[in-house]
Amino acid sequence: MTAPLTHSAPFWQRRPTVNALVLNVATALFILAAHNVTFWGRVGVAFDGHVLTVAIFAGAIFALTLLLIALFAVRWLQKPMLAFFLILGAVTSYYQDTLGATIDREMIQNAITTTVTESKHLITASFVFHVLWAGILPAAVVFWVKVARAPLVRAAVIWAGTVAVSVVLCVGLLLTQFATFSVVLRAQKQMMAAYQPGAPLTGTLRYARMLQKSKALPLQAYGTDAKPSARLAAVEKPVLLVVVAGETARAQNWSLGGYGPVTNPELAKRDITYFPNVSSCGTATAVSLPCMFASYGRADYSYDKGVSTENMLDILARAGYHVEWWDNNTGDKGIAKRQTLEMVLKSTDPRYCADGECTDGIFLDKLTDYADSITQNTVLVLHMIGSHGPSYYLRYPAEFEHFTPTCKTAELKTCSTEEITNAYDNTIVYTDHILASMIDILAAQTKATSALFYASDHGESLGEGGLYLHGAPYFMAPEYQTRVPMLTWIPADYEAALGLQPGCLAAGKAAEISHDNMFSTVLSLAGVETSVIDPALDLIGPCRNAS
Ligand SMILES: [Zn+2]
Repeated sequence: MTAPLTHSAPFWQRRPTVNALVLNVATALFILAAHNVTFWGRVGVAFDGHVLTVAIFAGAIFALTLLLIALFAVRWLQKPMLAFFLILGAVTSYYQDTLGATIDREMIQNAITTTVTESKHLITASFVFHVLWAGILPAAVVFWVKVARAPLVRAAVIWAGTVAVSVVLCVGLLLTQFATFSVVLRAQKQMMAAYQPGAPLTGTLRYARMLQKSKALPLQAYGTDAKPSARLAAVEKPVLLVVVAGETARAQNWSLGGYGPVTNPELAKRDITYFPNVSSCGTATAVSLPCMFASYGRADYSYDKGVSTENMLDILARAGYHVEWWDNNTGDKGIAKRQTLEMVLKSTDPRYCADGECTDGIFLDKLTDYADSITQNTVLVLHMIGSHGPSYYLRYPAEFEHFTPTCKTAELKTCSTEEITNAYDNTIVYTDHILASMIDILAAQTKATSALFYASDHGESLGEGGLYLHGAPYFMAPEYQTRVPMLTWIPADYEAALGLQPGCLAAGKAAEISHDNMFSTVLSLAGVETSVIDPALDLIGPCRNAS
């Protein structure tokens, strides 16, 4: 038997006793207040400041939150589940409220498929502080208090009552102004997209369902008639086509496309064709990258269609190409599953690599060596780290710091717009150098007939409109996240060997195009003949000699 605690006992031993329902209600209120700053801001805008409507809607959202919590927080699961909701909301609200990042299926997919090294840049001091006060501390309070538990039968009745009342309250309140709410909920998708914990929960469920669905799908053969064109079959030297998949480069900051600061000093002196009006398939790597290599365009692409249908690389292999994917980023997202995959970022070359990451300079010597020993037609896909944020300053060596002062931290909010933009522009200067160097390597080698194609996967927000990084749902994404640079380098010997009219591509370069064009264009550039090349999307087709 223990001695009764006196009033002189320290506070942590004087644990108050709380009713189980009260603890759920208090947690719901805390989550609504602490994790939903962006959400309430959007609610205010969406209902145009109509106080009564906002109050009714807030009541319905409270009922919904209590319902979500009550469904899982039962008996001995209550404290762990409440702690889970508090910490989950603290993490997701940091990204939503501080970086303007929407937590949806694609964001969950990115978070799960990303590398540890990449995610560690997102864990900053302000992130830790936010998670501490908005998640860990309240979770500790939840574990600290004692919960008064009703006997099992009564507890079951209270639980069923809470669930029923929450549902009735949520639906009932929404029905009072059904016309208004249905219009706003349909038109203002970005409003509910900011609701915590709803957004990460539905995002995770939708991701799990997507994986489940795609797992069951057998691989569909595609482009089975692919073969080398007569020209390709007759080339003297092996063809080496380098396809560079860029990262987070946005078209607005390329001086080749008219940006003021000179971010493309080297490519400006190479004989390339730059496409200034290209839109991306998605706003995040996990969506855009597979889509770039898929036969599906943006309107038709989905994760399960992508993984269950043979892609551009499968068709290149069928036409006799050896295909390799070199990755200096977060992996190939399954695109090169049936090809040779090499994670070059695992290199420890101290000239380019530190702390588990490499700058894109890591590709250069390797490309030189590869070109010198080539014996067969080859497509190399080089997946760059490019301009990946938030630590832009780690993406380029010191001598490429053309623009100063720069933001030297992952805490973008502590930097000025000028510092962020300068650091970002330096990543473009370095990408410019890498691409120009690759072109020089290909031009200098004598073993292969070579060409290069480059496109970035998506763009980036640098604080415009309060948004940072990328990954906004496409319907609400700013053009900074969806306009990407794309270019080709096709030297005269390649044009001659593959039967292309000199300089023809440049004539149509200003047209409005997108990642949708990439599948047909790259296959066509490689001299592959197949019925799945869409002539309407093939930028190379019109340049092919009739003979
Ligand atoms: Zn990306």
